[in-house]
Amino acid sequence: MRNAGLPASDVRAGIATELADDVPWNRVLNSICTQPHPLGVEMASAAAHTNLGDVRIFRGTKRIERKVVRLLLDLLGNPGGSGNLVSGGTEANLIAMLVARESARARGRLTDRPEVVVSSTVHFSFTKIFGLLGLTPVVVPVDDALRLPAAEVARRIGEHTVAVVATAGSSEFGVVDAVDEIGPALVGHDVHLHVDAATGGFIIPFARELGRDLPQFDFTVDGVASITIDPHKYGLANVPAGAILFKGAQDAGRFAFDSFFVDTPVHNTLLGTRPGSAAISTYAVLEHLGREGFTAITRTNFEVTEHLVAQLRAAGHELATEPQLNIVVVKMEHATRISQLLESWGWIVSTSKRFGETLRLVVTRHVTTQMIDEFLPVLERARAHVASEVALR
Ligand SMILES: *Cc1c(COP(=O)(O)O)cnc(C)c1O
Repeated sequence: MRNAGLPASDVRAGIATELADDVPWNRVLNSICTQPHPLGVEMASAAAHTNLGDVRIFRGTKRIERKVVRLLLDLLGNPGGSGNLVSGGTEANLIAMLVARESARARGRLTDRPEVVVSSTVHFSFTKIFGLLGLTPVVVPVDDALRLPAAEVARRIGEHTVAVVATAGSSEFGVVDAVDEIGPALVGHDVHLHVDAATGGFIIPFARELGRDLPQFDFTVDGVASITIDPHKYGLANVPAGAILFKGAQDAGRFAFDSFFVDTPVHNTLLGTRPGSAAISTYAVLEHLGREGFTAITRTNFEVTEHLVAQLRAAGHELATEPQLNIVVVKMEHATRISQLLESWGWIVSTSKRFGETLRLVVTRHVTTQMIDEFLPVLERARAHVASEVALR
């Protein structure tokens, strides 16, 4: 640390220089997070000092957090449920798995080797979580449509199983598992069905309203016990905003730790001190946009996605799978090299470690048809460039 501090103007200038080097949103095609809604940013700044770890001080902020939880439960068809705002999908999934384990223990169902049935495309946050919680994954290969096969899930349940994880919008492909088949297939099995809707939670309800053919994935499906949804992705709120929601009115309270202090309530989240700003940003965006606003944004996202797909196909490209949401995965030779070259030219796309020669493009609020039309010729230049590199080898 410096001995004598810098004037504020110097600090601002130094930070501004670094921020200016961040990639502008209109060159970002790999990110499920987007530029947050301006009202969310404004309200998050107003609440930058708030801390939901101390609800005696920040009682107004806490009321807003409770309102957000109610709005999300309502969106997901379960007004009588319970939940908490957390730092994101990773923490939400962790709390869901902990609650599943502890509720198995409470029912006398916890063995010395608790297992969780997951698909081979389950999000990597579960790898962290299973290590931390001492859970063993039972991995079910996805079917041809990259979905977790419902019949196979029921077959893999045994005495050690404490939970099943379905995904509503995989982060690699945007694939939505048939939660409406998995839930009913598990009835009578006494396991916790968790739906990871970190990506799809703010897309599917509105896309279904627009008449798109997507399975029901929320608490209206029999057997769904908990859902992860991430306001900081398609919910357009400031980072770090995630949520874990439960079917039962008491379930969120199963993850509870006392603090040292009299009169400070228990903590129901992994983080202690945590930002109220994300909760307030989420609230501002939900209240301001409403169902109509989110539905309009979802319609635009699908229009842009369809434009992208049409242009790619017109250029002779083949997709790895038919996109269900707003993630487009294109088969492409030398994808990693092409992605590196695009990055050096200012564009960020992603490639999969597990699905070889594919380029993944994510459409979200900041991605426009104009941006796609600027990008595609650059992509073709990058492909031609890499093809000539290969030819010269
Ligand atoms: C993003 C994502 C996560 C992890 O969420 P973070 O907010 O990055 O912690 C988990 N599951 C899915 C399906 C996701 O898309």
